[in-house]
Formats: sequence, C-alpha cells, structure tokens
Amino acid sequence: MSHVFHRSLTQDYPTAIKGEGPYLIDDQGRRYLDACGGAAVSCLGHSDTAVTEAIREQVGKVAYAHTAFFTTEPMEALADFLVERAPAGLESVYFVSGGSEAMEAALKLARQYFIEIGQPRRRHLIARRQSYHGNTLGALATGGNAWRRQQFEPLLIDVSHVSPCYAYRGLQEGETPEAYAVRLADELEAEILHLGAENVMAFVAEPVVGATMGAVPAVPGYFKRVREVCDRHGILLILDEVMCGMGRTGTLFAAEQEGITADLITIAKGLGAGYQPIGATLVSRRIRDAIASGSGFFQHGHTYIGHATACAAALAVQTTIQQRDLLPRVCELGEGLQRRLTERFGEHPHIGDIRGRGLFQGLELVADRATKTAFDPERKVNARVKQAAMQAGLMCYPMGGTIDGRLGDHILLAPPFILEESHLDEIVDKLDIALRSAL
Ligand code: PLP
Repeated sequence: MSHVFHRSLTQDYPTAIKGEGPYLIDDQGRRYLDACGGAAVSCLGHSDTAVTEAIREQVGKVAYAHTAFFTTEPMEALADFLVERAPAGLESVYFVSGGSEAMEAALKLARQYFIEIGQPRRRHLIARRQSYHGNTLGALATGGNAWRRQQFEPLLIDVSHVSPCYAYRGLQEGETPEAYAVRLADELEAEILHLGAENVMAFVAEPVVGATMGAVPAVPGYFKRVREVCDRHGILLILDEVMCGMGRTGTLFAAEQEGITADLITIAKGLGAGYQPIGATLVSRRIRDAIASGSGFFQHGHTYIGHATACAAALAVQTTIQQRDLLPRVCELGEGLQRRLTERFGEHPHIGDIRGRGLFQGLELVADRATKTAFDPERKVNARVKQAAMQAGLMCYPMGGTIDGRLGDHILLAPPFILEESHLDEIVDKLDIALRSAL
C-alpha cells in the first residue's frame, strides 16, 4: 500500500518516470500525450533543456533566500519581465507558490488597500456562480462552485455570487450577446447596490473560465461593462488568470483580449510551467502606492514567497516562450484544434458545445443535445472519460461543473505550446476513442 495520501484513495495511479516534450511516460513504458498540461500547467512540455539548465544554474548560486532578508536577481528580473508586458497600471508583482496563494494575496491586498485609504467598511466580495479560485479557505469562499464548497461551507466567509457569463446556457432566446453583457453587468451593479457600494471591496472573475466550465470566454463587451461598473462604485477588479493567463489563450494575459486592465491579476500554472511551483499577484500602482505611503508593509507572507529557484525557472519559461515566438503559434494551433474538434464532434449526440481560445479549448458533455440536459451525476461521466482517455494514452481534464445545482460535465484541453500539427490529430483521435468507450 502506498503511504502517500493521494487525491483519490480508491484509485491506483501509474508512476510517471519521464517526460518527453508533450508526452509523459510511465514505469511500464506507456506514453501519454499531455493534452491538458496536467491542469493547464505544462505549457512548454516536460523536458525543456533551457529551463532545466536555468534551474540547475540558480540552485548552484543561491537556491533560496528568505524575502525578509534579501531580494534576488531572478525575482527582480521576473518582476521586470512581467510588468513590462502586463496590462496598464500593473506595476509590481507579489510572488507566491501557486494559484490559491495568489488569490489569497489578492484578497488581502484589496482589503488592506481600503484600510490604508480610510475605507475600512469595504470588506465584501462579489464573484460568480460556478467559479473556482482555489482551495484555500479565502479562495474557496470566493469561488461559487457548490460541489467544491459543500463540505466546507461553515468555514467560509460570506461572498456574493452573481451569474457567470456563459453564453451556451445563459443567453436567452432572441437575446444578442451585447444585450446579455448588459444584463449581466446590470445584475452585478444591482448586487453592489443591494450590499451598499461602500461595503464592497472587489469583484473577482476569470477572463476565460477554466476548471469549472471548460474554457468559456465571455461574450464581447462583458468585461468592459464590468470594469465600468466597478469604477463607478470604487470597487477593485480582480482578474484570476491562474489558468487562462501566461499565453494560454494566445496573449500573455487573457485580459488583453478584453481590452481592459485590472487592479489585481493573479497568475500561476503556466508561469513556471510546472518546472517549479510558482504563482504571483500583479498589483496596480494605486494599491502599491497606498500601502507604501501608509503602513508601508503588506500584512501577509509565506516562507517560500519569491523563491529564487522558482523565479529563475519561471523566467526561463517565459523567455523561452518569447524567444521561440510561441504565442502566435498558440493562436494557430488553437484554431487548428478547434477546427478538428468541430469537424469530429460538431454533430456528436453528447457534445453540446465546443468553445475556447488559443490552446484552451472545452467540450461540454450533455445527455441530450437538444435540451442541453446534463448527464446524471451518478454516471460519473467525467471520471469515466478521464480513465478511458488514460487507457488510450491521452491526458485530458474532464470535470463536473454545477449547472443550476446539478453536476454537468466538460472536458478541458490545454496542451503544451510546443505541439506539432500531428499532435492535434492524435488528441482528437484518442479523445474519440475515449468518448466511444466512456459514453
Ligand atoms: N484559480 C483558478 C482559475 C484555477 O483554475 C486554480 C486551479 O486550478 C486556482 C485558482 C488555484 O490554483 P492552485 O491549484 O495552484 O492553488
């Protein structure tokens, strides 16, 4: 018996012993095409030599220096790299070890900002239903995914949840996407007024929703309107780009495609591409300045913030993506993947929707295409698809979301940016085999 407290205590896991570009290989020699980057993490595949070398070099110099005592070269250089490319106004970076920590830092920065500027009543958060922002208690409370929250409700702070922007299920008959965006922004504003704007600190959203909905971008104009609503009421906008950021949708930040900026943006996953655990919160100048000219100290921290080796790895990942000009490739490959998925599964009786941006694509699984009825959760469709895909030598990320209190299912694809066209065919062929066997 394994002494590891695995995620599932009823399942056996193959042992991964080697990575080779977009493939992981187990101890039986079986090869798995990583079409989901684990969880949208491994954007450079599994054996990048430049990143490996950068890690080796940094460990040989200084692996770790506590940030209460020192700054380090890779941390400073990575912050410079990100700020040079970030949406306007985001001018400093708080480094952590992953996405949930990045969200916790964002929530606390928002709260401390309002204390520093003399608005201590602002403590209320608004997020969206069916969202996921991490598993630590603050981040979990922010997320609106009922299934993930359920057992822990008594431990969670009170957060309001408004409707997500989810055209496949939310767009009403005869409604234009523009009208839908207005309706959702109005709903947000109504919630702010209901709570009293003077009590609200931030609205939190993922520009392209990953884990809980399966690569769902907002309708055009939605985020512009949300930004306007936040500004009208002095509320901070926190964009969670933990999954959709760092080039995954074809631009370094997903917010770029919405034509907006945010007060805080969280990133992780693709930042270090799995070579080291790292996340970050990008902080606007006004928040940084308020704290700098107030208490001068952010009342939050972890032992491993700004870990030198993790920063060196992330810097190597990001410079490799830039030097190899991989972001235009993400757009090209993403179009190729979506086209292939649509050709193969566009008429599939159990695939209701195919959507996404760049190498972040989702398929929504339904029991009935015409009525969009979700599968009975008892059928555990997502678990069956995952298992069948692994048997076919494919890693994909099937998840159940919460649709009107029920579980629905989707498959998320988030492969590495280094794929060849032939890998796209392999993904679709293997997914086809998995779906035939699982559904
Ligand atoms: N935010 C989003 C949008 C995520 O998808 C995730 C993880 O899947 C997180 C936050 C939490 O990140 P982590 O698992 O690195 O803590």
